Amino acid sequence: MRGAGPTDDDVSSPYPWQERVWQDLASRLAGDRLGHAYLVCGRTGLGKRALAEAFADLVLCESPRQDQACGNCRSCNLIAGGSHPDLKIVQAEEDRKSIGIEQVRELIEFFALTTHYGRRKIVIIDTAEIMTTAAANALLKLLEEPPGLALLMLVSHRPGQLVATILSRCQKIKLAEPDWPTCLAWLDACREANPALPDARAQILAGAPLAILARLEAEEGPLHDRLLDTLDAIRAGDLDVLEAARRDAGADMRELADALELIVSALVEARNGLAPRFLYLPPAAVQRLQDLANHLHSGRLLHFLDRVGEARAMLLRSSGVRGGEVLENLMFHWSRMVRTETTA
Ligand SMILES: [Zn+2]
Repeated sequence: MRGAGPTDDDVSSPYPWQERVWQDLASRLAGDRLGHAYLVCGRTGLGKRALAEAFADLVLCESPRQDQACGNCRSCNLIAGGSHPDLKIVQAEEDRKSIGIEQVRELIEFFALTTHYGRRKIVIIDTAEIMTTAAANALLKLLEEPPGLALLMLVSHRPGQLVATILSRCQKIKLAEPDWPTCLAWLDACREANPALPDARAQILAGAPLAILARLEAEEGPLHDRLLDTLDAIRAGDLDVLEAARRDAGADMRELADALELIVSALVEARNGLAPRFLYLPPAAVQRLQDLANHLHSGRLLHFLDRVGEARAMLLRSSGVRGGEVLENLMFHWSRMVRTETTA
């Protein structure tokens, strides 16, 4: 099972930015140095689960070639059909928000059976941080005395929420975000395969490649560009605050707050003559961002950035917060700030 999207011919990992991690895992496998438990972590949109699945595929493949599963053997066919008896994927069941004790008991039983094909028995636990306490305790017992051929791969984008005793028994595989040239080259290749995709290079981009691709595929439009326009239009007096807040009333407020924090951080950086660290800016946007930044007072801008950070933290902490009001307050704050602006 490979991750969606095109891959380079030279690259055997599911995604190009996973190559180093992949080589490391493959060489442990080849050298018979594979441990019993791994935790694949990193932010959403890096293809963590695809990596775990592809590696399970490689471990179980009967005739791997150059660190890649062959795709043709009995094992590869069973995996492709979702019915390999030595591979189990655990995730929250439909309509549940957690992974329960009964699911961990099932995997303990799974490990108690001998392997069907003499290789490893592999369990992938996706979004491992949502295990209940009882489930985590049961898993911990398994991790303390793993059966000889067991391989557990936990996948998590919030490893800090895992029990410390589980964390300490897993070897960590941390996926990092690729640099923009790698990300853009991959998005270009996706667009070659699917010409209907909007050109990523024409937009302000942020986040991990698969998250960006999902936005492009959903035709959600360039979020960061729109926010930059909104902030600039309020400053220029072309857009009313309430109107601005109304435009985004239906949006995912957490996503919006994330994007706003990135844009305002980029304004702070531009105000200080620095290139933004977390955004890809097409040439036209570089100028737009700089023009707006030049109108702003650095101290007040930093204060506004703090406000955005607080609002974002509040939205993350509590689902009961009214996102629309939070956004409206921020826009009011922005409008007061830019109205009293003189460059300093
Ligand atoms: Zn195979």
